[in-house]
Amino acid sequence: MDKKLTIALSKGRILKETLPLLAYAGIELRDDLATSRKLIFDTNRDDVKLLIIRASDVPVYVDYGAADVGVSGKDVLMEYGGEGIYEPLDLEIAKCRLMLAGPVDGIHAQGRLRIATKYVKTAKRYFAAKSEQVEMIKLYGSMELAPLVGLADAIVDVVDTGNTLVANDLKPYEHIADISSRLIVNKASMKMKHAVVKGFVDKIEEAVAQRKK
Ligand code: AMP
Repeated sequence: MDKKLTIALSKGRILKETLPLLAYAGIELRDDLATSRKLIFDTNRDDVKLLIIRASDVPVYVDYGAADVGVSGKDVLMEYGGEGIYEPLDLEIAKCRLMLAGPVDGIHAQGRLRIATKYVKTAKRYFAAKSEQVEMIKLYGSMELAPLVGLADAIVDVVDTGNTLVANDLKPYEHIADISSRLIVNKASMKMKHAVVKGFVDKIEEAVAQRKK
């Protein structure tokens, strides 16, 4: 049986907060992330490799089995869907909220509300559930700019402190979902490499519980 484990992570907040959980599970990076341009990283364990990729690509690698496990924000998971993924554990890191936000003086739509977001599917589902017809404009970043220059009436984006909204004369109007990072597992890996994958999930679960103490 294949005993190798491939873990997919994204740089930044998620990586920083996941490394201590991996360390608890006895997994430590060999290379210096700050200077390395590698995409596959060796660890202190010959049987464990890390893939460092874009946040929105993590569920794709796990869904298709190119990585056995990964850490992904709930915002990314809600947008991706994916039939091949289990989501066994809330890591309670990188917490924030998915919000509808708009100009501080109110959201003023002429006709159908125009929403700029990178979370098009999630936002569509949210407004459909309220029977509201909206127009979506897909952006890949800096959503806060869109209402300022008349590209959209409002945005759907993740908010942490709210400082970015305030700095751009915006404010939150509706709470769509609470977000945190989740451990995700490829369904086939869970079956075919059960001992190694389940062992890893259990260890990370222990690390999360330990951190709370
Ligand atoms: P804020 O603290 O609300 O000013 O957030 C700053 C920016 O970081 C916002 O534009 C968000 O898009 C982004 N952000 C905040 N928290 C998270 C998170 N947990 N995951 C991903 N992006 C985030």
